[in-house]
Amino acid sequence: MNIILFGPPGAGKGTQSKYLVNKISGFQISTGEMLRNEINKESEIGKLIINDMNNGIFVNDEIVNKLIKEIIFDPNKKNKLIFDGYPRSINQAKHLDLLLESSNQKIDLIFFLNVNKETIINRIEKRKAIEKRSDDELNTILRRYDTYMKTTKPVLDFYSKKSNFHEIDGSLEIKEITTKIDAFINV
Ligand code: AMP
Repeated sequence: MNIILFGPPGAGKGTQSKYLVNKISGFQISTGEMLRNEINKESEIGKLIINDMNNGIFVNDEIVNKLIKEIIFDPNKKNKLIFDGYPRSINQAKHLDLLLESSNQKIDLIFFLNVNKETIINRIEKRKAIEKRSDDELNTILRRYDTYMKTTKPVLDFYSKKSNFHEIDGSLEIKEITTKIDAFINV
């Protein structure tokens, strides 16, 4: 089973992904985490993306698409993919379709965790205190939200027409969201 978790920064995608990793023995594909790793490694990619990442701007599609390709074609991970924060643009969504098709896979479930701006700001401020992520400053959060609305909204429109798309109220408690997700998995 391949699953996409979709929603603005702070919607709880990471938390629910980790739950799903256990639940279906899956693999979390967090492009945000992969990109932060590149920066920590001080790799060539890391040097290219550090400014955009710190400013809450989306990283170039080509770089992100390249990073996920290897995972999708990894036979150990086939049909156990949990996408967290990818795709985030129409270009990425189309690229994902192509990669899945050529590896004989499909997306089984798409969950949209919907939360308003106020809830997101509160949550990210809390996370900032715990994780100390350099892109979690308030201004950056707001820029990330605006980038999300501008760039990711068309992806939402693209997926929301599909029959395997499910919108979940992301302002609910973690456990309540998990229960709702479970209802679609345990069928
Ligand atoms: P996240 O950890 O998912 O909140 O992502 C943190 C940052 O990584 C974002 O603000 C973007 O700068 C970058 N990023 C993560 N995933 C993507 C993606 N799929 N496309 C472009 N940029 C991304």
